[in-house]
Amino acid sequence: MKIAAIELYQIDLPYAGGVYRLSGGREYSSFDASLVRVVADDGTEGWGESTPFGSTYIAAHALGARAGITEIAPHLLGRDPRHLDRINEAMDTALVGHNHAKTPIDVACWDLFGRSVGMPVCDLMGGRTGLPMPIVSSIYAGSPDDMRERVADHRARGYRGHSVKIGALDSEGGPALDAERVAASLADRQTGEYFLVDANGGLTPENALRFLQLLPEGLDFTLEAPCATWRETLSLRRRCTRPIVLDELAQTDEDLAHLIATDAADGIGLKISKNGGLTHGRRQRDTCLSAGLTMSVQDTVGSTVAFSAIAHLGQTVPERYLRGILDCRDMVSITTAQFDAPVKNGGVTAPDAPGLGLTVDRELLGEPVARWC
Ligand SMILES: [Mg+2]
Repeated sequence: MKIAAIELYQIDLPYAGGVYRLSGGREYSSFDASLVRVVADDGTEGWGESTPFGSTYIAAHALGARAGITEIAPHLLGRDPRHLDRINEAMDTALVGHNHAKTPIDVACWDLFGRSVGMPVCDLMGGRTGLPMPIVSSIYAGSPDDMRERVADHRARGYRGHSVKIGALDSEGGPALDAERVAASLADRQTGEYFLVDANGGLTPENALRFLQLLPEGLDFTLEAPCATWRETLSLRRRCTRPIVLDELAQTDEDLAHLIATDAADGIGLKISKNGGLTHGRRQRDTCLSAGLTMSVQDTVGSTVAFSAIAHLGQTVPERYLRGILDCRDMVSITTAQFDAPVKNGGVTAPDAPGLGLTVDRELLGEPVARWC
């Protein structure tokens, strides 16, 4: 089997909740998505997606993703899409770094591989656990009462985990406001729920310590991505008993090795596009299992195509290490594909259909913006 054609599509995904706010005054109302279709010489196809969270989240942006795909795609024609490690080597030879550009190609090859052998991707990656995966909400930073309401709304829709965003500058209310946000978000906590308090790297160690000291006793949560740099994170880690997981700092395999070597955290947000797709995602999964680190399997954001990759990788993580998965379908107002994975019984189960189990809405996507064959 050989790759006969690669097509690149672009679509804007409006944020379903209006304006999404992160620490440092960052705001997002729409996300620029790149979708890739890989077609084999026997006509089998596969799909993948890369949707950076704007251009101010990590060192990734949509124009860069498409420029990177343009660099890489010609080097993959004629290669066997089922040989995922070799495909990744070829991508790394064609372009250094730019993992977000490699992600949709890697994921599309996994989808194609699964379709070609009639097996779901989660079974190709080690087999499904059978666990309904708890889904994690994404509660952007707002007023404490508003955040409490949005947690309640997600709870009513079956969400078992909640990612509560903080990181107020002193001029915005500072650590006191963040402590109120967290107390309000956890006020109605139910048994079995899991809370992440995510600063997206927006706190200095000083503000993080002030915030932690202002909290009421007994709140059960894990602190995510408190600081922007390794030095700040390690400094806080030494002076803080709260469990910490990393996200923006834990992107590549090398970052994860550094995290383990320095004992910087207790888990990671395993976002598939940060590390270049499912091949590296699988490696990070196994590295986390070796080190006893928990995982939330996610992506930066994305439509149903991105979610399908999340669901299949998450489906292979044993229960005690899987904190939850991000249902990014819920974050955008456009549905790019049919994907039979409803939220029920407290979670999501990856479908049994071959590959990722997607039926992509080709009409919605329109014509490709580029095609290589
Ligand atoms: Mg995060």
